[in-house]
Amino acid sequence: MIDEGELLTRVPSRLLIDGAWTDAATGGTVPVTDPATGRELARIADASPGDGLAALDAAVAAQDSWAAEAPRRRAEILHQAWRLLMARDDEFALLMTLEMGKPLAESGAEVRYGGEFLRWFAEEATRVAGRHQRNPAGTGTIVVSRRPVGPCYLITPWNFPLAMATRKVAPALAAGCAVVIKPAELTPLTTLHFAALLQEAGLPAGVLNVITTSAAAAVSAPILADPRLRKLSFTGSTPVGRRLLRQAADTVLTCSMELGGNAPFLVFADADLDRAVEGAVAAKFRNGGQACTAANRFLVHESVAETFTERLATRVRAMRVGRGTDDGVTIGPLIDATAVRKVDGLVADAVRRGATTRCGGAPLAGPGTFYAPTVLTGVPDGAAILTEEIFGPVLAVTTFADEDEAVARANATEYGLAAYVYTTDLARGQRMIDRIESGMMGLNAGVISDPAAPFGGIKQSGLGREGGAEGIGEYLETKYTLIV
Ligand code: ADP
Repeated sequence: MIDEGELLTRVPSRLLIDGAWTDAATGGTVPVTDPATGRELARIADASPGDGLAALDAAVAAQDSWAAEAPRRRAEILHQAWRLLMARDDEFALLMTLEMGKPLAESGAEVRYGGEFLRWFAEEATRVAGRHQRNPAGTGTIVVSRRPVGPCYLITPWNFPLAMATRKVAPALAAGCAVVIKPAELTPLTTLHFAALLQEAGLPAGVLNVITTSAAAAVSAPILADPRLRKLSFTGSTPVGRRLLRQAADTVLTCSMELGGNAPFLVFADADLDRAVEGAVAAKFRNGGQACTAANRFLVHESVAETFTERLATRVRAMRVGRGTDDGVTIGPLIDATAVRKVDGLVADAVRRGATTRCGGAPLAGPGTFYAPTVLTGVPDGAAILTEEIFGPVLAVTTFADEDEAVARANATEYGLAAYVYTTDLARGQRMIDRIESGMMGLNAGVISDPAAPFGGIKQSGLGREGGAEGIGEYLETKYTLIV
């Protein structure tokens, strides 16, 4: 059993700039709190815009030598980081549960999932290839080479503190890019601890710089405006993503954007309902519903809606809400009080419009920011919960009469990240792959993320892909040379 207090003394609390742990220039600090208790866990450096630019200076200075480093050496550092992470999986899991709130078992799963990006991209580092071909006119040779895009700025959210960092850092480092990473202000400790692990794995100074700040916009703006920066990779909400894209326009910055979702979860009359219930629990309640891939709208064929919903509600009533470190807890707190207010507002709006609460439906008493796992049925069109990302443990059920209606409703959103379809009819499954507008789909599967698969959205859910063979490509640019 790891001692929480002792672990927290070992987590860096300062900025990592050019290989040195550095106080913010102003000396300012900000608290990090445990959402399950409201208790302060640590105070960390609060970077100013000048600190952000110092971190970019360090990345720019490290860029050329890191790009020139043997791909095999880059791969070895990532492999070593993966081995160190696996040796300390309990420690990283506990840290994530403390600052973000998810149950320890889920934090453990995230350490393994997040770690896989290190291993996957260690393998990809040595496989970057271009092509070589005779031109059609027969007068010369076309050579296409791939090279690192250059210094990157990585902005991550709070919901998966480790995996969102490794999913960006690993491909960037594998490709030969130096980076500045800014974790979310609510969950910076995991990234700081991970940065120390990368140092231990042999990463040279300046290749990875970490800035933590309570002023994300003010610190990010000068970094984004600096022409030496060549890449932005962002995971977060669509409104912030739009704002960053506007800022990126000034320097024509290459952008990867993993933004919001509004995933439909379709259950057809021919679905295996046991599997659909199992998948629904995972797709909705993993991470307390705080995932951009979380199922947001349950569209269930009217002939099976009552059976499906009742079986699901039975499962939801049995969930145990509490501090993620306590045995048997399956749902942790929401990230903060704002999140609780938002979720409660969406539920109240749905109920006001005629939805029925099968279970839950209200915040739970503190300390900590908890919301009862909730099932709503008969959610009418027009309810905000069907168009907004819920980001909480609330499952909203609506029904459909036929496949065309299901598809039309599933696609009636500006988002297009994930979708889930339950059917035992293979032909129908194939039609859904063609017809549902989403970057990712689980066909009879409620959890789809995999480091070996391209993660990302279409429509206003984002640009680019993370993971898979595609992931490293986001950090490479293409150069063509004609040789005659
Ligand atoms: P969430 O809803 O997950 O908190 P946000 O989009 O607000 O999503 O935050 C995701 C990340 O984006 C966090 O690291 C946050 O600090 C950062 N962020 C928020 N606003 C800005 C901004 N204007 N410029 C740069 N980063 C920002």
